[in-house]
Amino acid sequence: MHRNLVSCPRNGHIFCCDLGDRTRFRGCLSIKQTQARILEKQNRSEFMQLSVENMAVIGQELAIRWSDGAESYYPLEFLRRHCPCALCAGERDIAGNVYRAEPKLTPKSFQLKSCASVGGYGIQPEWGDGHGSGIFSFSYLRSLDRNLS
Ligand SMILES: [Zn+2]
Repeated sequence: MHRNLVSCPRNGHIFCCDLGDRTRFRGCLSIKQTQARILEKQNRSEFMQLSVENMAVIGQELAIRWSDGAESYYPLEFLRRHCPCALCAGERDIAGNVYRAEPKLTPKSFQLKSCASVGGYGIQPEWGDGHGSGIFSFSYLRSLDRNLS
């Protein structure tokens, strides 16, 4: 018999998602609510915990070790071409048109001068051509790594 164990957030009771246990613990929230709350809590903690533990430039790649143990390797040119700033990614008007000045990229544009961490939610690289206004949030970085998303 399949039994799904759930802990009640109000009184800590562990109970099973079948009718018998539900009637035994009358003080508990409904099973659906309880599961939704547990799920919400897990999602929140995963989001809060995601951060960069270590990063280093190795050859032509930025290597990132994530707090959950995963590792990502981003070619510097790939990273620069995915710069999310308004200058590189363009700005969208209400009709959905994208305005973008074609950025002039040179070999220097793909050299990483420095990389600062921003407020615990992202990184801000500074490139060899002086460009440094793009902030890559951790979730954006993760989405760029096709092995992890
Ligand atoms: Zn940019």
